[in-house]
Formats: sequence, structure tokens, C-alpha cells
Amino acid sequence: MGPGVTASAGRFFRTVETDVLVVGGGLAALRAAISARQAGARVLVAVKRLFGRSGSSALTTGGYAAALPALNAHDDRHLHYVDTVVGGGYINERALVHALVDDAPARLAELWEFGAPFRKRDGRYHLSSSGDHSQARVLVPENMRGGDMTLPMRDIASALGIEVLENCVITDLLQNEDRVVGAVGIARNRVEGIVIAAGAIVLAAGGAGRMFNITSNPADVCGGGFALALRAGARLRDMEYSQFYPWRLIHPFKSTRVPIQPSTFSIGGRLYNSKGERFMEVYDPVRKDATTRDLSARGIFEQIRAGHSVEGGVVLDVSGIPDDEFRYENSKVVQLLDPKKIDYRAIKLIVAPEAHFFMGGVLIDDSGHCDLHGLYAAGENAGGTHGGNRLNSNAVPETQVFGHRAGVAAARQAPAARAGKPDPGPIAKAAARLQALRSDATSPAPEFAALHEQLKQAMTLGIGIVRTAKGLERAIADAAAIADRLAGLPVQTLGDLTAAIEIEDLCAIGTACALSALARNESRAAHYRDDFPKTDPAWVRTITYDRNGVGARPLVVDPNEQGLIARHEAARKAPAKPAEPEHVK
Ligand SMILES: Cc1cc2nc3c(=O)[nH]c(=O)nc-3n(C[C@H](O)[C@H](O)[C@H](O)COP(=O)(O)OP(=O)(O)OC[C@H]3O[C@@H](n4cnc5c(N)ncnc54)[C@H](O)[C@@H]3O)c2cc1C
Repeated sequence: MGPGVTASAGRFFRTVETDVLVVGGGLAALRAAISARQAGARVLVAVKRLFGRSGSSALTTGGYAAALPALNAHDDRHLHYVDTVVGGGYINERALVHALVDDAPARLAELWEFGAPFRKRDGRYHLSSSGDHSQARVLVPENMRGGDMTLPMRDIASALGIEVLENCVITDLLQNEDRVVGAVGIARNRVEGIVIAAGAIVLAAGGAGRMFNITSNPADVCGGGFALALRAGARLRDMEYSQFYPWRLIHPFKSTRVPIQPSTFSIGGRLYNSKGERFMEVYDPVRKDATTRDLSARGIFEQIRAGHSVEGGVVLDVSGIPDDEFRYENSKVVQLLDPKKIDYRAIKLIVAPEAHFFMGGVLIDDSGHCDLHGLYAAGENAGGTHGGNRLNSNAVPETQVFGHRAGVAAARQAPAARAGKPDPGPIAKAAARLQALRSDATSPAPEFAALHEQLKQAMTLGIGIVRTAKGLERAIADAAAIADRLAGLPVQTLGDLTAAIEIEDLCAIGTACALSALARNESRAAHYRDDFPKTDPAWVRTITYDRNGVGARPLVVDPNEQGLIARHEAARKAPAKPAEPEHVK
């Protein structure tokens, strides 16, 4: 027990106390913890797996989008703003977009100070292009790995004296009337509970990619942060919006996940279906293959559905890309093929979509504050910044911008906030679950894995890339049936318990997604309804979801925005081909 935490023992529970509790161990949690500590608060991090080595942040390529006029004189934050709003289908929360584009450069500079290395080419920082950004503005970490950022940040956190509880699953928030005053959790590796009293809490527990059967997300990304907020009474938003990354290489790689980088399509990559058609011309006549992810994922999905696929996906033609460019942008691909003496130009490259990212999440203001006093959210756990579709490399800056804002705001309010005894319900629930355990074995019984598989199947069918009312209703019914079956399973080991919590959370969040998607009777950005294929201007608003069900919320739009967007769109449509990658100091 270190300086930030005081303890007392109980039968199943340890009780600890801190100013700011950060839930999660990825990029958003790291940033929130560091910023809260630097603002003077005692900080405790509780993370389901390992701090700085878990969540999507451990697997991310780490591309960081920021308008940096000093590096690219053609770029500025207004262009980044417009790209983000247009790409997001005009339903982004504008205050959050402003925060993202305004703060991304400063937070990047801090990552440099923390010691995170980013790629240089010929001794100069390299900015990658992709079709969804009108300018080259993506910096990529040296090794194209999240660890380039998370590991130096973890060292900083440790040097600052931030307390960390690893292998700790937060299961419920503790409340006193409308104020969040702490959290309850259980250990993953021993029969032990923990009650944490906190002045403020930052949720940074990531998205819910494990709801789908094919995903880029690791096993710990199961909607836990969304479910914690929902159970406590906070609103979620935009839950009908999740992103499918269009270009996972499914041939020559089957089990190893290898993505084709978005920049590939700005330097000449083309997609073809089995009929040899360059089908993306239909979906985006201007940008074609170099379009936004929502359109590309749907384009590929519809080829597969229409029977025009090749080995389960579509063909990626890279013959127009100079070898050194392909190798630079897709170094992961060539690093895997070169040792086997396989020339990527001599084989068929097949890509298909995979579940990747949640645009939806906890409703926050631009300081990261949620509906409930004392509760903040950041990173993929929060919603609204990306609207209906996230642009390439806008998620990593989101973790830094909102992790920082939430950490600072939580630190400021924490000392004044601690008040009253929490509602004992969640602690009693966790105690009963721990009491029922017969063993501390950490692998779950096969029935849990089977239920999780059924849920993934149901959600992929119902709330995948293309939806219908019938499919959504089916997904809701399936999630309810799976939750019922789960409630009937005996939970006897620690492994059973953690699996049960994850499936329970995913059922609740899957239902939130399906009900929100059912409410949006139109198609916009990544939400495509076969039964409502048109975009309806009346739907420029936010769908919210809380424990009472679906709600709606108007969007506040800056009156000057339309002029800015119109000028920018005209300029974007003018060039015959997308921008070439740019090399800048
Ligand atoms: C393969 C891949 C490549 C990507 N590439 C890019 C890219 O190049 N650029 C870009 O901008 N974005 C990219 N993304 C998206 C981006 O990396 C993620 O959105 C971002 O890392 C999310 O960070 P986070 O801290 O919000 O959540 P995560 O990194 O997912 O962390 C969530 C944390 O919460 C913990 N947790 C979960 N539930 C609980 C609980 N109940 N109690 C305690 N802890 C809990 C988890 O263990 C984990 O530590 C990529 C994502 C993936 C998967």
C-alpha cells in the first residue's frame, strides 16, 4: 500500500481510499492518471489486466492525427475539424471536436517529452496521408505499436507515485444519491474484493469490440466501462455507431491479424471484386478506394453478400504502388512475408472488414464530465467526438486530449467531493458472488465460452455493417435470451465469475446498440439500414441510451460551420486524385 491509499481488511474486501480513481490501463487511463497526479491529486488506477500493456492500446498501430502547420504548411485545425465533422456524418458533438483538434498538437508534444518515438523518414518526421483526411497529418510511432507510447507513460506514472491495482475488474460504481463516491471490484487472480472510496472517477475502460465475432480488439475490451456508467444511471450516446475496419488481410494471413494501412489507398491501392470491378467507384466517385472507413466497409461487405467475393473478401491491387512506398507504409506485412521469402507482389492480397472501434460511448462534456457528479470518461469509453464514423488516427489523440481534460477536472473536484456513505447494494452483490465461489481456478467452464460465442454471432448478424429492423429486433431478443441462460449458469470459479461479468456487460451493451440502431430510421455514416437506406436531414441529432431506454438530444451546431464546410468540400472535390504522402521536417 503506497502513499495514495489507506487500507482496512474485511472478510472478502480490502477497502482503500484515494482522490481520483482511474478505471482502465490503456492510453486514456495513462493520460488521465498522469494529468490528475500532476494536478496534485492522489491517484489510484484499477485495471482488469496489466497497466500500459492491455486494451486496444496494447495492439494499436498508434497513428496520431494532428494538424501541425509547422510540419505541413497546408494544414490547420479548421481543416482537421471539418474533416472530422464531415467524415462523422455531421452528428459529432462539436465542442468535443473543437477540443480534439485544438489540443491534439499540444498532447502530441507531451508524448514526445515523455519519450514516445515517432517515425522519421530520411531524418524528418513523416506525415502519412489517408483519404479521410484532406491533408497529410498522421504521425506513426516508431515501431507502429502502442507500446511506443504506453511504456514510457507507464514509467512516468510510476515516477509520479501513481498507485496501480492490476488484475482488478471494477464491477460497479458506488453512489451516494446522485454522486459517484467510489467503486467496487474483484481480483482476477485470487478470491478478493476491493472497495475503493474516491473523490472522483475517470472511466477509461475502452470499447466493446469483443461483442463481434471478428475483431481487432483484445480479450479485455468487453464494454465494461459502458456498462459501469449505464448501471450507475449515466447516459450513453451514439451507441448505434461502431466501426468496422475495412482492410484486414485475410489472405495470405488467416489467424495472425494484419491490417493494410489506410495510407495504402492514398498512394494507389485499389480494391476489386470477383468480377474485376473497382466497386468503390460506386460508393465514393471522388475518392474511390481512398474513402472513409464506413463506406469502404459497406462496399466490401456488399460485394461479399452479393456473392462477388474472392476467398471471403475482395482483392487488393498494389501494383500501382512503388515498392519502397508499400514497404514503408505496410512494414508489418513485409516483416511477416520477407522471412518466408514471399513477395507480396506475387501473391493475392485479400481484405475483409473486422469490428474495430466504438464511436458511441458515455455522454461527456468537453471536460470529460458525465451526467453524474464525480464521474468522468475518456478515450474509447466516451462517445460523441467522432459522430458516426471515426477518421484514421483520430482515436489515439482522443485518448490524450480527453484523458488529460478528464484527469485535470477530476483532480480539481476530488478533494471537495467525498461525501456520505455509498449505497451498499453493489458491495453486497459482489460479496454474494465471491461467497458462492468454490475455487480460485482462473479458466471459465466451457459453457461461458459457448454463450460468448452465441452472443458474438447474434450481434454480428444483427448490428453488423448492414442492419434491418427485423435483424435488430432479433439481436435484442437473442441478447435477452443469452442473458437469461447466463443467469442460470452456476458461477463456481474465479474464471466463471470474470467471464460471467463480461458476457453480462456485453449483453447489456449489445441491447443498447441494437435499440439505438432501431431508433435511427435512416442511414448515416457507419449506421446503414437496408430498410431505410437514405440519409434524413431530420436525423442530425444524438440518440442517447440510459437504463430507462432510448432518448434523443439536439446537437448544437456553430452557425459559421456550414460556410467553412462548403468551402472545404469544394476544394476537396477539385483535385482529380488524392494528395500524395508528404514528407516534412
Ligand atoms: C489493432 C488496432 C489498431 C489501431 N490503430 C489505431 C491507430 O493507428 N490510430 C488510432 O487513432 N487508433 C487506432 N486504434 C484505436 C485506438 O488504439 C483505441 O481506440 C485506443 O487505444 C483506446 O484506448 P483506451 O485507453 O480508450 O482503451 P483501451 O486501450 O482499450 O484500454 C481499456 C482498458 O480498460 C481495462 N478494462 C476494461 N474493463 C475494465 C473493468 N471493468 N475494470 C478495470 N479495467 C477494465 C482494460 O483491461 C484496458 O486496460 C486501433 C485499435 C486497434 C485494436
